[in-house]
Amino acid sequence: MKTEFILLAAKAVNEAILASEAEIESLDREIGDGDHFINIKRGCATIVGMHDELAALTPDAALQKIGMKLLSTIGGASGPLIGSFFIAMAKTVKEQGAESLPEIAAAFAAGVEAIKHRGKADVGEKTMLDVLIPVSHTFTRLAGEGFQRPALFEVIKREAEQGMLATRDMIATKGRAAFLGERAIGHIDPGAKTSQVIITTLCDLAAK
Ligand code: ADP
Ligand code: MG
Repeated sequence: MKTEFILLAAKAVNEAILASEAEIESLDREIGDGDHFINIKRGCATIVGMHDELAALTPDAALQKIGMKLLSTIGGASGPLIGSFFIAMAKTVKEQGAESLPEIAAAFAAGVEAIKHRGKADVGEKTMLDVLIPVSHTFTRLAGEGFQRPALFEVIKREAEQGMLATRDMIATKGRAAFLGERAIGHIDPGAKTSQVIITTLCDLAAK
């Protein structure tokens, strides 16, 4: 993974999130407090706006800088969660590099672990982790088995979609949706939806 990929990814994810506004907004109106799209949009705009300062950095330094900035710019529960994802990923990239797919998978897994740790949440709680955890496990397993792009990224996209859809039938035990109890059943978690949109966009970009 090169810094150039991070910059291209920021632009592509920003466009994909903007294109999903109506869908994310309606999910968040149903079981959230209506700020999730604004939070994610602000995060994306912030990263895109950092283009010139990031371009001169190594990938690990760029990820670290993004993480620190997101901690202070995205509000709500998702700011610290996503910020810590980038910071943990940066640390692993710095220590191990991110040239091969297994190395990139390891960095992604470290980011997801940081979200689990900070959010004190796990799979099955109707959050973004219902997409990120299965995606991370599959990415690590397939990269370890020597799977190559684009086949690997097609499998990951399917995993993200399944994880997102699975949140529909869950009761939330973390975040604001937890207050809804059984009323949250039947609605996809907005954070799972944005995670799926982001993963899909990254896979399409990386498969090229
Ligand atoms: P807030 O919850 O403060 O309103 P956002 O609306 O930006 O923040 O984000 C809501 C999303 O964050 C939820 O849809 C869910 O996916 C995710 N989320 C909430 N709490 C947690 C948690 N403890 N761990 C992981 N993800 C969480
Ligand atoms: Mg919210």
